[in-house]
Amino acid sequence: MRTHSKETQSSLTPQTALQILKEGNERFVKNLKANRNLLQQVNETSTGQFPFATILSCIDSRTSSELIFDQGLGDIFSIRIAGNILNEDILGSMEFATKIVGTKVIVVLGHTKCGAIVGACNHVEMGNLTTLLNKIQPAIFNEKTTTENRDGSNADFVNNVTKLNVHLTIERIRRESPIIAELEQQGLIKIVGGLYDVETGVVTFNE
Ligand SMILES: [Zn+2]
Repeated sequence: MRTHSKETQSSLTPQTALQILKEGNERFVKNLKANRNLLQQVNETSTGQFPFATILSCIDSRTSSELIFDQGLGDIFSIRIAGNILNEDILGSMEFATKIVGTKVIVVLGHTKCGAIVGACNHVEMGNLTTLLNKIQPAIFNEKTTTENRDGSNADFVNNVTKLNVHLTIERIRRESPIIAELEQQGLIKIVGGLYDVETGVVTFNE
C-alpha cells in the first residue's frame, strides 16, 4: 500500500476518508495488516505530505491511531493528549491540518478504561494534571443519568462521561473554530466521534 499523494488526497470525499479509517480498523481487528514498506514511505513523503485524516486521541499507550487504523507514514495527523481534551493549541493544529494541508475528516476518538477520564471522575488533583482534568469536568456535569456512585469506580458512569467528552469536544470544535465550522458547512470536511475499545481493538464510530 502506497502513501497518499496530492492526487489521491484531493480525490477523496470526507465520507471515503472515513471509510478508509473504518476499513483500516477492520484489518487491525482481523490482524490483516496492509503490506507497507515504511522505509519506502519515508522516501515517498520526503518532499511533502498529503494525509487524509486528523485524529484527536488519548496518549494512552494502547491507542496509537496509526496502529489501530492500520495506516502508514504520511496518512494521518495524530493529535494525542490525555483524555483527548481540546485547547486552543489543538484547535490551531486542526485548522492547519484541514484548511492548510487538506485532511478530509476530523475524528475525536475516546477510549474505554481511560485513566484520564477515571481521574477526572475521581476529581484527582496533582500538579499540572489538575488543569488538564478540569477540561473533562463539563462531560461529568452533563452526565445526568447516573444518580449514585458518580466516581471512577462506576464503569457505566465512566463510559457515559467518555462518550459525552467526545460529543462536547466536537461541539466545541464547531463553536470555537469558525475556520473548521465553515469547512464542514461547505462539505469539505467531516467531524466524527468514535470510541476505541481497549479489550477488542474495535473502533465504533458515531456514524
Ligand atoms: Zn485515555
